[in-house]
Amino acid sequence: MGLDLPQGGIYHISVLRRVFAFVFVLTLLFPATLRKVSLEAGPSYTRVIFTLSSRAKVRTGKIRYRDKVLLYIDFYGTFPGRIRSRYYYSSSPVKMIRISRKDRRRLRAVIYLSRLGKYRVFFLPSPPRWVVDIFPGQGELTLSRQLGLKIKKIVIDPGHGGKDSGCVNRELRLEEKYVVLDISLILKALLEADGYEVVLTREDDRFIPLSRRTAIANNSGADLFISIHVNWASNPSVRGIETFYLNLAADPEAERVAAKENEYSGKTLSQMKGLLKKIVMNEKIRESKLMARKVQISLVGNLRNYYPDVRDLGVRGAPFFVLMGAEMPSVLVEVSFLSNPQEAERLKDPLYRARVASGIYRGIEEFIKEVEGK
Ligand SMILES: [Zn+2]
Repeated sequence: MGLDLPQGGIYHISVLRRVFAFVFVLTLLFPATLRKVSLEAGPSYTRVIFTLSSRAKVRTGKIRYRDKVLLYIDFYGTFPGRIRSRYYYSSSPVKMIRISRKDRRRLRAVIYLSRLGKYRVFFLPSPPRWVVDIFPGQGELTLSRQLGLKIKKIVIDPGHGGKDSGCVNRELRLEEKYVVLDISLILKALLEADGYEVVLTREDDRFIPLSRRTAIANNSGADLFISIHVNWASNPSVRGIETFYLNLAADPEAERVAAKENEYSGKTLSQMKGLLKKIVMNEKIRESKLMARKVQISLVGNLRNYYPDVRDLGVRGAPFFVLMGAEMPSVLVEVSFLSNPQEAERLKDPLYRARVASGIYRGIEEFIKEVEGK
């Protein structure tokens, strides 16, 4: 092509870092100026060109913001020249380019796209230019395409285990770890019968650290992660079903549930909030919220066929350690309260557990139907 394109075309950040580490030192000494921003429409891709006074170290990444895909490119040690802060384009996959100071060291260009498939970033000399080629995706109109989901493998995480019993109803001699394992095993059988591949984070009564549970999900390349728990409240009259997705807890009640389930993480809530703020952009929050809704509606609906008094406590976001860092849509279901005498009695009944499992199963099915656009 005559361009100094890296092998494979896609410019990988780690390669960038290694090759141009020394350039970074130079940019600190001799700051670059961003002189020009231009756009070229190609037949198969759109090219954005940033012309500079000298080569600057860059870092790029993707951000999903509501329904938009944002691509950013940070120029280190770079100052804005005579350029506008916003560039608008009407008949291009690139809708807008916004230039702003990220901090004292960085100038950030954000490219707003209607859709994004692959992209590549590379440098061209004389004049020094950073080039971003954007290849359109197949369109992001349907939810399934937007999410890029094809669900084959599901990880079910029975909460607690081993030395960690979870909550315990002493009168009924019922421990959360056994109840949730039983529900998980039934759910596994239901999903496997449908042709899904299912991985359990534990198949027996053993202790598994929370972080390893997420790692199991990530390492197995799972498409969905569902953690199953039984709830507990100091007030025995509290009852019902609630489903959580990972988020900063908005209300104290959600935080309370999260604190209970986080007990074995070895992290404080404030430590986790810090951690969460960093990763929240990368998490599949939107998808997880949708899955949480589907599971909640289906579970409550299914149980109400047999137990009309089942209380719907809704869907909420909370900072659950076990959901943190999961690379797939992930939810945590609190299937009933072991602290409520009636719900505890029900949890003891294998038929109730089977109905809980089938309610969750239908919720997962509903979610898959929606994201795969079936
Ligand atoms: Zn639990």
